[in-house]
Amino acid sequence: MGVRRRSGSFVLRVNPILCDGFGHCAELAPELVQTDEWGYPILRSEPVPLTDAGVFESARYAERGCPRQALHIHRISEKKPQ
Ligand code: SF4
Repeated sequence: MGVRRRSGSFVLRVNPILCDGFGHCAELAPELVQTDEWGYPILRSEPVPLTDAGVFESARYAERGCPRQALHIHRISEKKPQ
């Protein structure tokens, strides 16, 4: 069995139509989410390397824990040199 290597990066995205603004995600993934004055999430915009396992795990907690299913992890593939 081979070893799976994580390459690329990810960002967390929110569907603002679904979001209820209670800010649960900021508790689950404080490295990635802050809230504005009304409780709506402000997401970290810089891609995070998939090798950063702790932050990726937080993103998964937030994605699964969002009561409105408004969050999703968007993976960004690493471009291969040509
Ligand atoms: S947990 Fe989901 S619904 Fe709640 S503020 Fe975060 S994105 Fe919005």
